[in-house]
Amino acid sequence: MEYCRRCGGPLDTVQILAKPRGRCSRCGHVEYRDLAVAAATVTEVAAGQVVLARRAIRPGYGLWVIPGGFVEAGETVATAAIRETAEEVGIRVRLVRLVGVYSYPRSRVAVVVYHAIPEGPDAPAPQDGESFEARGFHQGEVPWDDLAFDSTRDALRDFFAPVSPD
Ligand SMILES: [Zn+2]
Repeated sequence: MEYCRRCGGPLDTVQILAKPRGRCSRCGHVEYRDLAVAAATVTEVAAGQVVLARRAIRPGYGLWVIPGGFVEAGETVATAAIRETAEEVGIRVRLVRLVGVYSYPRSRVAVVVYHAIPEGPDAPAPQDGESFEARGFHQGEVPWDDLAFDSTRDALRDFFAPVSPD
């Protein structure tokens, strides 16, 4: 059961513009479910070697992800990508380019992924209890069957995709 953020009344599901929405049965307020924005990095710690962290929290418990997290109001997407990378895998990075923006019909999060490189000699290490471990992987070592999210898989695929000759 979901509740109205205006008055706390229970929401009914109604069709509005051909989409199911929660409408408050008490005050009529319609809850639009906004897409959240997350920022992440493919951090290249050595040539062709990228950092993945193995999650110690749900969702994706025990599976591997690129470092990232939700963008907070008051910071830019790029700043959030740098902050989350430092918080999750202990590496201060600078951003090189955009890898892509990943969103899916069944997900409420859009993930903006940057290619990043370390600013200093930091080695990957889990920082905050969200991860069991963090380390570098070459393309052939990436645990493709044990990635936590579609966005991680698709961003890594795009990152490693051979550059077109034209
Ligand atoms: Zn209400």
